Amino acid sequence: MIPSGRCLLAVPLTDHHTPLERQARAAREQGADLLELRLDRLDPVAVAAALPVLRDLPLLLTVRERDEGGDWQGLPARKLDLLERFAPYAAWVDVELALWERSDEVRDWCANLVAQSGTRPRLIMSWHDFREPDPAATGRMAATQARLEQVLERMRVTPAEAEKLVCYAADVQESLAALAVTRGERPRIVLAMGPAGLPSRVLTAGRGGLLTFAKVHGAGSAPGQPDLDELRDVYRIAHLTARTPVLGVIGWPVTHSLSPWIHNRALAEQGRAGVYLPLAVAPHAEALDTVLEELLRGDRFPVRGCSVTLPHKTGVLAWLEAHDQHVSEGAAACGAVNTLVRVPEGWRGENSDVLGVQAALAEAGWRADGPITLLGAGGVARAVLAALGSEAARVTIFNRTRSRAEELSSAFGCVAGAWSDRGAARGSLLVNCTSIGMYPRADELPLPAESIGQHGTVFDTIYTPARTQLLRVAEGAGCRTASGLTMFVAQAEQQYRWWFGQGPPRGSYRRTLSGGVSPGANA
Ligand code: NAP
Repeated sequence: MIPSGRCLLAVPLTDHHTPLERQARAAREQGADLLELRLDRLDPVAVAAALPVLRDLPLLLTVRERDEGGDWQGLPARKLDLLERFAPYAAWVDVELALWERSDEVRDWCANLVAQSGTRPRLIMSWHDFREPDPAATGRMAATQARLEQVLERMRVTPAEAEKLVCYAADVQESLAALAVTRGERPRIVLAMGPAGLPSRVLTAGRGGLLTFAKVHGAGSAPGQPDLDELRDVYRIAHLTARTPVLGVIGWPVTHSLSPWIHNRALAEQGRAGVYLPLAVAPHAEALDTVLEELLRGDRFPVRGCSVTLPHKTGVLAWLEAHDQHVSEGAAACGAVNTLVRVPEGWRGENSDVLGVQAALAEAGWRADGPITLLGAGGVARAVLAALGSEAARVTIFNRTRSRAEELSSAFGCVAGAWSDRGAARGSLLVNCTSIGMYPRADELPLPAESIGQHGTVFDTIYTPARTQLLRVAEGAGCRTASGLTMFVAQAEQQYRWWFGQGPPRGSYRRTLSGGVSPGANA
């Protein structure tokens, strides 16, 4: 029996190298509700042999056409034979809208199938567009929604008992467009493919989506298909409703962000309703503007707040100012917003990096007592200067692009040095705000090894890896050290406090981070 009323977790079986029984058992053990048999890829003889095990879960039969992302190139009659062969064991069958439109034979078969409703599998009419949109294109969200609505109009005249529409996401806009049309008269499956499509695959669960696909084995059946345990345990899709608070990280790229891992785990540990998603937003003003308008309207999604990361921290600040929203003093001092918080009047822009820097320096036991050397002049360098307050006057900024160091030094009343002179600097504190030493080039140093011991405390803002080469050399030279991981954890904890009025469970973020997440991940 198919459970009704909640979004089903469907696992496509496409791998013909691994025994189907093993794939089916793995899917079942991991909590799948339904198996999709991709008959365009699987051997029918192997499927028939595995039926006793496959039938432990409801089955969806699909013979996907080549021009819709599958391997099937045969005649409609052969396809219908294949569907007929397994129809007695299935709960659903999938037929492409385009095929239904061009083949009388398929139309008759579908009409017959639906006429015998109750004794035969139910009909899903599907449409897939594998073309990847250009992220630089403007107006994508409205255009995608209009395209989906046109397809739904074509579906209206079919006997479909459920409608499936799948497009490719360049960024979160296609996900938002998919979610906007998920509810209809018939059950719907509206999903966006690619890494940026994840929000559609998760949030569909709280918006009446009939099912969402996940993989337990191999590459799955479409780009961006998440692992089943990720949907179940990280995004807790069984608990999602239309009222579940939505949070996320706005950035580009965000695929490897650690933030969904740590924030979702904290929400789960606290038993709190909420889901935190990677929200990829293409690096241009129109994309940011469109997504902020849509997310922050409040009527479509109960957005509680967002993290903001590169390259959008200054863009979000400008957007808040242009829309008369509140920007905190800390964020204004940094010239960047890394947190959006829902408040009764609208939105407040905050910057938790300042607190993160202060936490890292406090953990190292740094006390202001001499010259400070800052390497880098980007967003994090700004947060460090804001956190140093009046001590910023003792800072010398060294940056590869000298003009950026000069710009920053005039904003904070410090001085700029030549990048080539950084090895000669000495004093109480050295802060690395460049990306030199970050995974995967983790063996690199941002300054000559022999000069590192000239600083009392060394703070590396990088946190992948947690123990950078710079910190290792500094420890060896007898310096105190401060890690970017402490900064990252402290700033994330502050974000959570702003969103929920209460911090995450004690030690939650460190536990999650030490529990083995991808080393290539970033904020
Ligand atoms: P950003 O605005 O892009 O700035 C990057 C800085 O690194 C610039 O000063 C850039 O110099 C310099 N740089 C990059 N590659 C270089 C190279 N090969 N040689 C010399 N200089 C180089 O980035 P950001 O947001 O400030 O982030 C900087 C670092 O902070 C990141 O790598 C990240 O690891 C870390 N971070 C930590 C946290 C945390 O919570 N711990 C949060 C965010 C970021 P130019 O101006 O010459 O390009």
